[in-house]
Amino acid sequence: MKRVALFPGSFDPFTKGHEDIVLRGLNLFDEIIISIGYNSAKSNRYFEVTLMVEKIRATFAHYPSIKVETYAELTAEFAKKHNANYLLRGLRNTTDFEYENSIAQINRKLYADLESVFLITSPEFAWINSSIIREVHKYKGDVSQFLPYSL
Ligand code: ADP
Repeated sequence: MKRVALFPGSFDPFTKGHEDIVLRGLNLFDEIIISIGYNSAKSNRYFEVTLMVEKIRATFAHYPSIKVETYAELTAEFAKKHNANYLLRGLRNTTDFEYENSIAQINRKLYADLESVFLITSPEFAWINSSIIREVHKYKGDVSQFLPYSL
């Protein structure tokens, strides 16, 4: 059976840290669906979701097994619709762990056959953080070195 994983997140913006998790995930899964959680009615995104979809698609243009989608529902529901039995997530530190631990437990209560798979961030990307990138960009700082595409 094809192993399909969802890589869910807000990706505001998608960073080199996210790219690293996706590329390493390809060693484990046949297909990875990068899924941007997005609710048009109450979006307070900094980077437009359409721009981010375009940039991520361009980043992985040569990888047919990587897809990019947006969704506005329970992550687990969206995973089921795409026949994804795995949720791929990155772990940078203990703060990520505490948060991810409860989400993963709840997802398994809701969907027993949905496994969360965690990859420990590569050290060179562990400090990359989307909210700090937004802050730097807002004040016209150069964020290009943190992103796998140019803005
Ligand atoms: P969320 O809003 O769900 O936290 P993010 O877009 O911030 O979504 O992150 C999506 C996933 O990527 C999460 O599992 C997060 O821990 C992971 N992640 C975030 N930044 C990095 C990074 N620099 N390196 C590796 N993984 C990361």
